[in-house]
Amino acid sequence: MPVTLPHWTPQAPLQRLRFPWLTEAGVELAVLRLDQIDPLISGNKWFKLRHHLEAAQIQASEGVISLGGAHSNHLHALAAAGQRFGFATVGLLRGQAHDTPTTRDLEAWGMRLHWLGYGGYRLRHQADFWQPWLARYPGFYPVPEGGGGLSGALGCVELRAMAEAQLPSIGWDDFDAWWLAVGTGTTLAGLVLAEAGRRQVFGACAVPPDHGVEQNLQQLFSQAGQTDQGYQLLEASRGGFAKVDTTLTAFVGQAEQDGELPLEAIYTGKALMALRLYVAAGNVARGTRLLFVHTGGLQGRRATHPHLAGV
Ligand SMILES: *Cc1c(COP(=O)(O)O)cnc(C)c1O
Repeated sequence: MPVTLPHWTPQAPLQRLRFPWLTEAGVELAVLRLDQIDPLISGNKWFKLRHHLEAAQIQASEGVISLGGAHSNHLHALAAAGQRFGFATVGLLRGQAHDTPTTRDLEAWGMRLHWLGYGGYRLRHQADFWQPWLARYPGFYPVPEGGGGLSGALGCVELRAMAEAQLPSIGWDDFDAWWLAVGTGTTLAGLVLAEAGRRQVFGACAVPPDHGVEQNLQQLFSQAGQTDQGYQLLEASRGGFAKVDTTLTAFVGQAEQDGELPLEAIYTGKALMALRLYVAAGNVARGTRLLFVHTGGLQGRRATHPHLAGV
């Protein structure tokens, strides 16, 4: 059956957060809960996928094929969407075959998995990478790693309107800036495009500076025909992508207690911790209103915290 998408406009709730370190600094914070758009499909990955899936629908593709690691939030969202909306999915995985809570979900939701090893996965940027896979899965629509590219960014533009529509519900008439975790920068690019210079967008980088976030952003902006630079990147990787230290773990635990906000350590935990450090350093004026985007990823917590619920 070709890919068909129903009309689905997910709503991420907007909620106020009142952590003691914010109150002390006179800074107001609200969070857009992309982790709560749906029981199965979670986080920024749905928004990054949306235009890719619409393109697959327009082409009447037989299914969707993409790639990621054994804990991939992207493959998780894609497989969940395939299960929910009834289209076939194929996942190409990094490394040797092994079971994780994520891969078990992928299989339970009908995604066909192929393990590429590390060497095979590294070839994903080569021009002819997809050829054999599209020969094996004719008519499938290939989505780049993480749902990146300009269509990924454009899918995140709508987050601005989604947040603005809910401001009255938290008693705000406006806010000053965005704050979110950055991996490739695709989600941040969507917000920068949506704002077109109006509100500043702060990106807390979960990857070290040599990961090419800045180049990716410049490429996306030039593809979108926009040169606007209303954003700022901050180093938040704490020694490397997916590196987790005890200070961070304690912070994530505390945030969950203080603010009833579930976070995972790799993206959202590091991003909120970077905000706390930024506020503590006196960088944010009293009275500032910030909007933190919860980009999801909670399903990944099961690998390190088996007692935690997944999505
Ligand atoms: C993928 C991901 C990000 C990074 O998104 P980019 O668009 O690549 O910057 C942030 N947070 C979570 C939870 C993610 O899964």
